[in-house]
Amino acid sequence: MPITAVTPDIFQVQIPLPFALRIVNCYLLRGDDGWTVIDTGLNTSKARAAWQEAFTKLGIRPRKIAQIVLTHIHPDHYGLAGWLAEWCVADGGESPPIRLSAREAWLAVHFWGREVWQQPAYLAFWQQCAVPADLAQAIMETTEQTRQRTYPHPAAHHIIEPGTPIRLGARLMQPLLMPGHSDGQLVFYDAADRLLLCGDHVLQTITPNISLWPDGEANPLGRYLDSLDELARLDVRLALPGHGPVMADGELHGRITEITHHHQERLAQTEAALPQPSTVYEVSQRLFNHANLSVHEMRFAATETLAHLDYLVRHGRARWHEEAVWWFEGN
Ligand SMILES: [Zn+2]
Repeated sequence: MPITAVTPDIFQVQIPLPFALRIVNCYLLRGDDGWTVIDTGLNTSKARAAWQEAFTKLGIRPRKIAQIVLTHIHPDHYGLAGWLAEWCVADGGESPPIRLSAREAWLAVHFWGREVWQQPAYLAFWQQCAVPADLAQAIMETTEQTRQRTYPHPAAHHIIEPGTPIRLGARLMQPLLMPGHSDGQLVFYDAADRLLLCGDHVLQTITPNISLWPDGEANPLGRYLDSLDELARLDVRLALPGHGPVMADGELHGRITEITHHHQERLAQTEAALPQPSTVYEVSQRLFNHANLSVHEMRFAATETLAHLDYLVRHGRARWHEEAVWWFEGN
């Protein structure tokens, strides 16, 4: 499994994932008091083996994990946090604090803490989106399988306050709240070195998924576009993302512009996909080629379509009729 020194004190560790995304980039930051782990992977045997290999290659003992920091609690970032903490303790270390934003800590307990079947809002949600019953069932089953791969859960969550500098390895970094991809996603900025740990906020080769979820905060696409604008104001020479290649020099800013344009185009396509009153599922069928999508991807197609519809409604470009099954019409 590739381990790359992106700077003398930061190593990128690529952890394999059992879905199309293939890899999550995690990071190890060297500090005087031990190592900071940024993001963790999903709990699979291949992912655990990749961490063991990385620690062996770098000559690090698991007991030297000083803290585990999560940009957000999507399962590919959150899933191995509890296991890494237990691994550290089994090696004779102190249980390392697991740190994340308050909003992500709430989501971790609220969503990953209970079986998806115990979360009635989600069952109702797929019906409101007019997702066919067999597909909704498959989505719930896949989500529950993924949820199982987030165990063991951390014993406690320690809250990072955006704006209060935090020491990560040898660096003092500024945590910045960047909602949209996840409500409480944090990125970490080292102004002195113009280095950014950007989580899944900006990715080079794919567009970060922006979805509206039953438990999510309102207006995810609007929040995302606003936080992209905020990020564009930072001076960044090296951005370290959660997936895909690192972005050097102007690449982050170029990518921010591309992603912003992508959403403007997508909004126009969504508007054009309302020739008659339509459900979320019908619109998603017009925007995505469902024949090519896995169950996991169909779920994102529906929630991403809804995020774009929601944005259009907020800007007077469509209307949302919240009946038992939601339907939308263009203006
Ligand atoms: Zn994510």
